[in-house]
Amino acid sequence: MPEGHTIHRAARDHRKIFKNKVLNVSSPQGRFEDGAAWLDGRCCEEVEAFGKHLIYRFEGEQALHVHLGLFGRIRKRPLPEPEPRGAVRVRLVGDTHLVDINGPAACEILDPVQLAALTGRIGPDVLRPDADPDRAFARISRSRSGIGKLLMNQSVLAGIGNIYRTEILWRQRLHPDLPGKDLTREAFDRLWADAVHLLETGVKRNAIITVDAAPPGRGRYRERTNIFGKDTCPACLGPVTRVEIDMRRAFFCPTCQPI
Ligand SMILES: [Zn+2]
Repeated sequence: MPEGHTIHRAARDHRKIFKNKVLNVSSPQGRFEDGAAWLDGRCCEEVEAFGKHLIYRFEGEQALHVHLGLFGRIRKRPLPEPEPRGAVRVRLVGDTHLVDINGPAACEILDPVQLAALTGRIGPDVLRPDADPDRAFARISRSRSGIGKLLMNQSVLAGIGNIYRTEILWRQRLHPDLPGKDLTREAFDRLWADAVHLLETGVKRNAIITVDAAPPGRGRYRERTNIFGKDTCPACLGPVTRVEIDMRRAFFCPTCQPI
């Protein structure tokens, strides 16, 4: 599952190649033929991300909404147009590059009312400058759920994925089971600021880096984490505890993050 920074990174990349361009849109796999036919030959006016949702705004006030889900994949490639690889649901072709989207959980056209309904369901996105942290705090401070669970609930706060959750809570010395209602406003503000800082770094470096001043790793796994996937806490050198929260693995240090 891509984390929020990868979707914002894609929005930024696609804005560069598609904004104010007329796009050729097709559905090589055939499952989005009608939608593609409607978008084909129209001008793309903006590309943006709300949490893990990608929105391509087209002239005529319609938007293409894409959510990759667990298995979706985006590929950007330079022209000339290569043969589609695998089951390409939608292919967007500009004048220098194309984007292929395979296996998305959602790929649909939304009118302005439907788009407003979607963005209203998504919590404030830490990577959007127009995000309102008060909305997230209002939800968190009313909840008995653990903060570890709340951080991954995209209707409370959008953009934080599994690795960032573990890392932010460790950096903020917060136990994942701390009930939302017991999180102080000061602690929330620090957590929000840290999330913005880390996810912006993720967009810029195109890798999850939660260790201050570390370069991305080489090879397939470019992440640089403190305790995610680790056995030992780098702060206290004690053992890291592994847990599952809503079926996703999480880590915490019982010494540095007491409840
Ligand atoms: Zn520790």
